[in-house]
Amino acid sequence: MCQYLLLSIRYTPIISVDIESSFSMYKNIPSDNTVSFTSENLEKYMISKKSHAHTTYERYTHRVVRGAPCGCSRQPLPSRTHRNAIAVNIDIRRGRHADHATATSRKFAARRSTHITRQLKSAADPIDDAKLWTLALAPSIRTGVINISDGFLNIEEFDGICKGLFRNDRGIVYSLDVHTLKHIFNIFDTKKDGLIDRQEFTMCWNKWIKTIIRPVNIFLIIDVQNDFITGSLNISNCSAQQNGLEVIEPINHLLDTVNFDSVFYSFDWHPIDHISFIENLSLRPLDSSSQIKADNAKLYDTVIFEGSPKIKQRLWPKHCVQDSWGAQLYKDLKVVDNAVKIYKGTISDVDSYSVFWDNKKLTQTTLGTQLAQLNATDIYVCGLAYDVCVGATVADALSIGYRTILIDDCCRGVDLNDIEKTKNHVVKNHGVIAQSHEIKTMVEGRDRRPELGYKLALEIEKSMEKENSKEKENYK
Ligand SMILES: [Zn+2]
Repeated sequence: MCQYLLLSIRYTPIISVDIESSFSMYKNIPSDNTVSFTSENLEKYMISKKSHAHTTYERYTHRVVRGAPCGCSRQPLPSRTHRNAIAVNIDIRRGRHADHATATSRKFAARRSTHITRQLKSAADPIDDAKLWTLALAPSIRTGVINISDGFLNIEEFDGICKGLFRNDRGIVYSLDVHTLKHIFNIFDTKKDGLIDRQEFTMCWNKWIKTIIRPVNIFLIIDVQNDFITGSLNISNCSAQQNGLEVIEPINHLLDTVNFDSVFYSFDWHPIDHISFIENLSLRPLDSSSQIKADNAKLYDTVIFEGSPKIKQRLWPKHCVQDSWGAQLYKDLKVVDNAVKIYKGTISDVDSYSVFWDNKKLTQTTLGTQLAQLNATDIYVCGLAYDVCVGATVADALSIGYRTILIDDCCRGVDLNDIEKTKNHVVKNHGVIAQSHEIKTMVEGRDRRPELGYKLALEIEKSMEKENSKEKENYK
């Protein structure tokens, strides 16, 4: 039988749960055992947050029900009966579960239910900064971790917040090194007085904490096409001798089990006279600076074509010709509904490894615009080939400023040294290399990586610097 919690929110209106989730380390229930939102039920909520179709009100309502220990299945919007059932209480204070409420307790429960519903409604209202400040810190104040009677956060208190933020789904805290912690603190301490005040914290909350807790997750599957797996550019013939087929199963598993906000598939999609085909070498003159001459150029060599700009190009066998079998996605790869397909390398005279831009950044695909429209924050990248198109795309995603996650076991590549370089680049630029089994909890906001938090803070710093220099320009 389902049992429901009576949510007695004595100190904090229900809106605070949003913010409390960033303080999930503070899961101690206050001494009078008032049931607030524990870390566990908050994290359950983080799963239900995916229901984008919900209005804010619905989401909050949903969360309350999801937060109950009844194990009830996901429902888009709890029915009135279900909502009222929240009020059938478990007497936490005495540690006894009341499955059948007495008439008196029903009455009380009904009143309580109305009260909660009213609070839920108010949760949909925009909150002002002052409310935010109080609410955000309420749980931490209760547990004595943060003292805001002075109205400021010092670095130790900020460290407490980070320890709540950056942890995995098992509650293990990812430690931030002192330098990174200080840097992030300084970014939000805009007045540079060594303290984060209410206004500064509001910015920190809106721009940083919110994204860390509620990322908008994109799954980008790169070039899992026939030619790279069993066709003309079968990567198992390249020096790393890796088998492209091996990415299918883990990618399909992710598609089946992880609720990404949006899924993109990219296609290498070349015209027949494409510059990258060794068969087309005679179509364009090589520049005199090209060390490899047309007469002795071999497969996988890099040559330089004449032109302005000159084009450095690796020579591949003819592959992924538009509308050919080789350019189709591999038959066993799952294609989800509403996925977005992006075509690259469509111009004859320039190759395109990255799904964002061609190799000379002369043209761009629609990916950038579409990600911006979705307010994407986190990009999970995988596919073929690890050190070529995946590597170039990941590098661009990082340079644009996205929190970027490379899914290692869902990629196969061409050259082992280049694969290593790709990995190093990701790590150096505050991206994350993860395995597919780690992705679900990351997408659900239950495993929050400090590298991605730092990356976001750096992007915020950059945009603040830009704004400041603009202001200075205007002032002049
Ligand atoms: Zn290609």
